[in-house]
Amino acid sequence: MNITIIGTGFVGVVSAAVYASLGHQVIGLDIDPKKIESLKKSQVPFFEPNLENLLKEQQQKKRLDFTTDYQQAITSADIIIIAVGTPSAPDGQADLTYVFAASKALATYLKENAIVVIKSTVPPGTLEKAEEIIKPLTEVNFYLASLPEFLREGRAVEDTLGPDRIVIGATDDFVFETLERLHQPFDCPIIKVSPPSAQMAKYAANAYLATRITFINQIADLCQKNGADIQELIQAIGLDNRIGDHYWYPGFGYGGSCFPKDVKELAAYSRAIGESNNLLNKISDLNEERIPKLLTAFGDKIGGWDNKTVAILGLSFKPNTDDMREAPSIKVVEYLKAFDVKIKGFDPKAIEVAKNFLPQTDKLSLHQTIDEATTDADVIIALIEWPEIVSFDFSHVKTTKQQWFIDGRNQFSPQIISKWGYSYLGIGR
Ligand code: NAD
Repeated sequence: MNITIIGTGFVGVVSAAVYASLGHQVIGLDIDPKKIESLKKSQVPFFEPNLENLLKEQQQKKRLDFTTDYQQAITSADIIIIAVGTPSAPDGQADLTYVFAASKALATYLKENAIVVIKSTVPPGTLEKAEEIIKPLTEVNFYLASLPEFLREGRAVEDTLGPDRIVIGATDDFVFETLERLHQPFDCPIIKVSPPSAQMAKYAANAYLATRITFINQIADLCQKNGADIQELIQAIGLDNRIGDHYWYPGFGYGGSCFPKDVKELAAYSRAIGESNNLLNKISDLNEERIPKLLTAFGDKIGGWDNKTVAILGLSFKPNTDDMREAPSIKVVEYLKAFDVKIKGFDPKAIEVAKNFLPQTDKLSLHQTIDEATTDADVIIALIEWPEIVSFDFSHVKTTKQQWFIDGRNQFSPQIISKWGYSYLGIGR
């Protein structure tokens, strides 16, 4: 099949490379010429494990090309997948400007019976609006579908090649059959539903995961006060089949390009359709408050943040990515810079990107190694569980002065960290 992916950001590049690897002829289209220029040279403008190799391989096989030209990209496409950004608007609702701009730009070049698929995360009602934009601009028959994306950054290639499920939202048998055929090689359940169900499935999945994180953080806060250990609790509740022991991450709250915005968008959507008193508003608020609340409590334990040198280890929003969108490190630096502190940041991959995201302050320096970042640190915050950080031997950077070790994701053994001479501070333990 001829497939065009509109928007060669994170989701678009991964999808383009993976669909090409299934033997399809794929074009990636973006309005950003710089991005297209580097993708043409097989350079991925962000870090994602295994992506660059897959991209290079597919380009060498001549199955994958990139362009900024809508006419070239759309004219022969059987399937057009819109994967542009859908940031939150100031009122929290999904800003669909890019989705609708792409719909308008592609309309005049559609071939007969082309399928326009919206992969971007969008609320119910979006397909209808896209149809209203496209229809007056074309003579040909075309179809619309929803195909929400569930990949996780840091494991995106793996997730896209081996998804838990594919969800197709459509109303026409031809669309279901075509998209089912496209995804058949993945050997996973293919769920065929209405477009609103597909769109809600995406928001509900992310809102549930964000709720799970917020819930365990709330329980961790109670443990902090009563001597219970949240990790012991997780073991205990995880054995309940209805709950499970997976995806419990007590810590500094959720971040990234999806959870914060998707929860806000679902909350705003709920309010817009008259469901104002909803759980989702509260989840967002609790997550927003999380970092200042934790850092205030840790500040009390270490005798205040003033005059401290603080090493922040892990700047990206999670391991194995250099994505800094809504990364916890941003709020940590924002909080700490109000004090008389020296902040030293380290990340295995995100240093360059971090420069554009972290609050500007001459109190902050960025370092290429953990050794450099932790030299003279009074406080080490292990913020993100990059393997390099979790497996690091912190005993050899310990000095004779009192040093605190904040285990931001409960990844370390309190006994070992204490044996190395640090005062250990975890989350809810
Ligand atoms: P992104 O910001 O990385 O990329 C979006 C790309 O779209 C940019 O390169 C931009 O230049 C391009 N673009 C914007 N308008 C365009 C237009 N009119 N024509 C062509 N290109 C245009 O976004 P992303 O992280 O890849 O997310 C894309 C969508 O997928 C969002 O709706 C997001 O919520 C959803 N999603 C993202 C992830 C993730 O992990 N990043 C996971 C699941 C779903």
